[in-house]
Amino acid sequence: MTLPEKPDRTDEMLRAVGAVAVETGVPVYAVGGAVRDRLLGHPVLEIDFVVAGNADAPAFAETARRRLRGTGYTVFERFGTCSFLVEPYKLEFAGARRESYRPDSRKPEVQPADLSEDLARRDFTVNAMAMGIRKSDFGDLIDPFDGRSDLAGRILRTPLDPLATFSDDPLRILRAARFAGQLGFRIHPDTLAAMRADRERVRIVSQERLSDEILKMLSQPVPSVGLRILQETGVLEIVFPELSALTGVEQRDDFHHKDVFEHTLKVVDNIARMTDKPLLRFLALVHDIGKPQVKRFVEGVGWTFHNHENVGERMLKRVCGRLKLPNEYLKYSRKLTALHMRPIQLIGGDVTDSAVRRLLFQAGEDIEDLMMLCRADITSGNPRRAEKHLKNFDAVTERMREVEEKDKMRAFQSPVRGEEIMELCGIRPGPAVGRLKTAIEEAILDGLIPNEHDAARDYLLKIKDQALADPPVKTENQ
Ligand code: ATP
Ligand code: MG
Repeated sequence: MTLPEKPDRTDEMLRAVGAVAVETGVPVYAVGGAVRDRLLGHPVLEIDFVVAGNADAPAFAETARRRLRGTGYTVFERFGTCSFLVEPYKLEFAGARRESYRPDSRKPEVQPADLSEDLARRDFTVNAMAMGIRKSDFGDLIDPFDGRSDLAGRILRTPLDPLATFSDDPLRILRAARFAGQLGFRIHPDTLAAMRADRERVRIVSQERLSDEILKMLSQPVPSVGLRILQETGVLEIVFPELSALTGVEQRDDFHHKDVFEHTLKVVDNIARMTDKPLLRFLALVHDIGKPQVKRFVEGVGWTFHNHENVGERMLKRVCGRLKLPNEYLKYSRKLTALHMRPIQLIGGDVTDSAVRRLLFQAGEDIEDLMMLCRADITSGNPRRAEKHLKNFDAVTERMREVEEKDKMRAFQSPVRGEEIMELCGIRPGPAVGRLKTAIEEAILDGLIPNEHDAARDYLLKIKDQALADPPVKTENQ
């Protein structure tokens, strides 16, 4: 049975803003991603509007907010934009503008402009369409660069000369790679060539914008698409050299060493199928970055990467700092990168409880994430081998559960304490006290009585004569 789709209320939202445009006589259009995604039939949650005709965008936005009972009104002075929320939508308003860049600066000079100039400064033709939202022009496209055809052909291409477009704002190079993955589009060959040619320009982009884009790429359902494009255009070498350095295969004797970059992409795609958690996706991306430094060929054994987890952990301090990621990325990815080989060492029959306990303690609340990484790390093309590895991790997980259970029992204490047992039973310190305590604990664990003082005391009074009369029985645990 298919569930009825949630009604998409995007058009209702657009018409509501359109009504305010009619009322105020301001020419307002929806633009960019919302127009693109609406035509593609993708869900829309953020809608950008252009306020054309030199009208005052903040004034229009404020009127619209009042009419639509929007919340969280925010003004971004620097960009001349305002936004507010009408759940579940985020609406953003900007005046039509033109941006010009000087070659030495990434800060554009912004001037008011007409709608077609505003569309021309946008990154890709499919993002450079505006749409009428008033009753009289609802759904009409203003599409000077034929974004419609590129949408149909699933092509990303810049509206103007790609070299100039990327040079003006080189973040667009990363956006192209990200949209290729997000939309499942091809990048036009001329656009792709310009990405490669202009790649050095990404150095002028602020680290915050770059990292934000890298994290957006990681949040895609198949993150490898964008990452591979960055690698192939030489951009990754500039924005994330430690990842780019994972590329390369070597053959020596009969030993083939698999490409760590390709392996990493598979791990990232695997984890993307398991979780949306950004930290875990980032961890999948970086967990092997120590490998190139420790790679050795050992005669008769093959390629080894001894200690790569600890080298990776140390590298992450510098990497996360340079990427200016929030501190939790550093803490989390270092900790779990250092631990990522440990569950493998717990495979097999001769592992002690204390080895299991040590890992449980060190991983703490992140143990499930660590096990998820380990499962995603299985990239063997041989289904039987992959199945075997997964089964091994099932066994490790089960073993962890058992050890935790045992430890819980050990930490467990009868709600009736020794002193009280002696008093109630009229006995002196000795092994009988322990036996009675154990009997109470067993009754609680067996679910005979609740883990409460009064119930335990009543139970003790009921069994004490019998228990004291019986000789102690030796069990396996004693
Ligand atoms: P998504 O929200 O899915 O990332 P989007 O297309 O809405 O996609 P935004 O970053 O929200 O992307 O930007 C909205 C619109 O603004 C884009 O569609 C594009 O027209 C324009 N835009 C955003 N960033 C740039 C940029 N760096 N250069 C040129 N145009 C841009
Ligand atoms: Mg958007």
